[in-house]
This record gives sequence, structure tokens and C-alpha cells, in this order.
Amino acid sequence: MLVKSIHGRTETHSPGLLWRFYRWLRGTEQILVRPTRELPLVLISFAGGDDEGVERLRGALEETWPTLPDSFRRRYTPILSDAPPLVVVLLRRRNICTCLGHHHPHGTESRTTRRLRNLSGVRTGELDLAFEAIRDWEPLPLSHLALPPEASTAETRSFQWQLALLAVLLHELHHLTNPQEHEHIVRKQSQTFYEDVLAHYLSERFHVEYGLQRELRHEVTSEIGGEGAR
Ligand SMILES: [Zn+2]
Ligand SMILES: [Zn+2]
Repeated sequence: MLVKSIHGRTETHSPGLLWRFYRWLRGTEQILVRPTRELPLVLISFAGGDDEGVERLRGALEETWPTLPDSFRRRYTPILSDAPPLVVVLLRRRNICTCLGHHHPHGTESRTTRRLRNLSGVRTGELDLAFEAIRDWEPLPLSHLALPPEASTAETRSFQWQLALLAVLLHELHHLTNPQEHEHIVRKQSQTFYEDVLAHYLSERFHVEYGLQRELRHEVTSEIGGEGAR
């Protein structure tokens, strides 16, 4: 690995030399999450000490997703029905390349995923998510719109974090199941999903209207993830 980096061939994308060392130093743990039937079975692979990220991702899959109105969840039905029944999520704090996540095309997955695929005999996909980067991501429209004080609570921030994890996960699953789809289409769908769910939540929970979101949607430049994993 070192020789590879000395010769200037270090991969900046997952898993990356530093990530491999990080895992080696801290050890890796895994947890299986069984969300509702529409979502794949998810194996979260994470480094020791990253339990908060695991809890948030688990919350996104087991708590946030099932409470969303059907009309929001149905937007991802075509993608989810094509998704692999088993998905390994390599959860980390941040990516060296600063992306929020990546999908890992067939043939580029980690040994864990390949082993799991052989063991289970089912189609198994892999992606990575950077949970702290996703928490700090201020996609929209909150970075533009000041929330009224009554809606600016720890509860809202917690909801946003789990929703953002969900949106990035769906974004990467979209790439995984539909590799030909152009980035701008994939991104538009996940960002619209994020915005609409957040607007719905704020209106239900705090009776706050989100009137500017339609206009702001056209100004979006945030990047969710690079193309391909490595
Ligand atoms: Zn990247
Ligand atoms: Zn993308």
C-alpha cells in the first residue's frame, strides 16, 4: 500500500489508503438493519467509536423512512424495486475527497461485500456514506432561509440529519441501480426529496411555510457525490 502511494497512485476514493489504516487502527464493526420491506436489508460497516453515526443511519432507515407519507416514499419505488436486496454501507465520518457518499460499481466492492454476496447468494450492493459531512451539509434551503426560532430546535436538526442520510443513501442507490442515469437527474430527485420532506415536516410540526423553496431549487450547486467509487 505504501509503495503504491510513493509512486503517486494513491486512490483518493474509497476505501483509500488512509481509510484502510484508519480501519486497521480502530477495528471495524458491523450491524445489520432490517428496515421496512421497501428498503433493502442494510449491513452497516463502521469503525469503533462511530456509534453515533450508526444510530443516526439506523434511525433514518427504521424511524424516519417509515413515518414519511406514502407519496414521498413512492417516488423511489422504481429504484427500490430494482435495488439489490442486500446493501453494505461503509459508514465513515468524512471522505478524503470530501464527497458525502459514493456508490461502488460491481467489481469494486470491498472484501466484506464480496464475502457476504457469496455467503448469502443474493445480489449485494455497496456504497459509502460520510455521516459527519452529511450532518454538516446544508443542502437547502436552510442555508438560505432563516427558520423561525420555534422551528430552529435540536429536534429539527436531528430530523434534518437523518433525512439527509436518507437522501444521500437513496441518491447512491439510484446510481447503483441505474448506472446510466445522469448525475443531474439523480441529484435533482434526491434534493427535491430532501426539500419536500423537510417542508412537509416543518409545516406539520411547526406550521412553518417554506414558500421560497421552489425558486431556490434552481440555484442548487451542492455536490452529493462523485461519479463512481474508484
Ligand atoms: Zn469522492
Ligand atoms: Zn451522484
